[in-house]
Amino acid sequence: MKILVTGGAGYIGSHTLIELYAAGHTAVVVDNLYNSSKESLRRVAHIVGVDEIPFYEADIRDKNKLESVFSDHQFDCCIHFAGLKAVGESVAKPLEYYENNMNGTFVLLDAMRRHGCKNIIFSSSATVYGDPAEIPITEECPKGHCTNPYGQTKSMLEEVLKDVQTADTEWNVVLLRYFNPIGAHSSGTIGENPNGIPNNLMPYITQVAIGKRKELGIFGNDYDTPDGTGVRDYIHVVDLAKAHVCALKAISRKCGLGIYNIGTGHGYSVLDVVNAFIKVNGVNVPYKIQPRRPGDIATCYCNPAKAQAELGWKAQYGIEDMCRDSWNWQKNNPNGYQD
Ligand code: NAD
Ligand code: UDP
Repeated sequence: MKILVTGGAGYIGSHTLIELYAAGHTAVVVDNLYNSSKESLRRVAHIVGVDEIPFYEADIRDKNKLESVFSDHQFDCCIHFAGLKAVGESVAKPLEYYENNMNGTFVLLDAMRRHGCKNIIFSSSATVYGDPAEIPITEECPKGHCTNPYGQTKSMLEEVLKDVQTADTEWNVVLLRYFNPIGAHSSGTIGENPNGIPNNLMPYITQVAIGKRKELGIFGNDYDTPDGTGVRDYIHVVDLAKAHVCALKAISRKCGLGIYNIGTGHGYSVLDVVNAFIKVNGVNVPYKIQPRRPGDIATCYCNPAKAQAELGWKAQYGIEDMCRDSWNWQKNNPNGYQD
């Protein structure tokens, strides 16, 4: 299939491109490079053995540019990664987040429908469950209250996409609710490349390990969890990337609407992750317990059985693989794609 990949220069998009090519698909990337660099696409091309990944530097909100992309190509499906994703920043800049994520998706969906491409895989998030009503979380678990504008955009866009599919059943819509992606491609040449101070746990750990930051702050050790620190379902980004290839197969079988948790089903605490990282990589990660981070929940991990049953997808990598590959990327690229 020929796939439009919005946000394909980013962390998850770049890893997904590799799995798409490995499965025999081709891709065209549209990205405004707000949170990424063209260098990731150059490295992906090297890994998959092509001269270049077709790329448009464009904002998906730009109707005219998007129109020219759709005029140049007939797509079978869109994998829609493009969006702003920093939780804290979304609280400070709600309008920018709503405008980019909502409006960007509206412009994209309109172009898709006008050009007869009615298949989409959307990057949703475990955040739509809010403080989950049940653990492990199944897809039947009711959506919860999102405490930040970023989460609201994911939850609202899920509803928009459901409505689009209900109104016109020619659409196939797959909503993938990602849990906590970490890790990097085994080559160590692509990975997560946060701007400024990392918000997420793993990039913070790797930056402490490489000496860029003094110590990790652990946000709370008084949660109702085995060691008091927050528990999450970390998933290797390569496993996550492969889930998109499985979702494409479902789309080719005309799946209608599909909603899937994409996680491993295992919960690890912050201390579990820090200790696994130290053990696997033989490096030191000094840390200090700090107050809880506002909006955080104690425990979040999923039951991924539906994705296995219906998509034939199951995570293969464990926490030690994730820690090894995150460090391999960081130590080979201390300054990310700027090296
Ligand atoms: P990322 O920031 O690395 O990638 C997103 C890409 O979209 C970037 O390259 C950015 O430049 C691009 N982009 C943003 N707005 C755009 C616009 N208007 N037009 C064109 N390009 C635009 O993020 P990621 O971690 O790869 O996440 C990909 C998707 O998955 C996002 O939608 C994110 O919300 C979602 N998601 C991520 C996580 C996570 O922990 N990384 C978890 C759940 C869901
Ligand atoms: N966390 C932490 N220190 C950090 C970043 C995160 O202790 O510098 C904790 C956070 O409180 C949560 C877990 O690590 O329990 C995962 O946080 P992350 O921001 O990576 O993902 P989230 O699940 O919040 O989306």
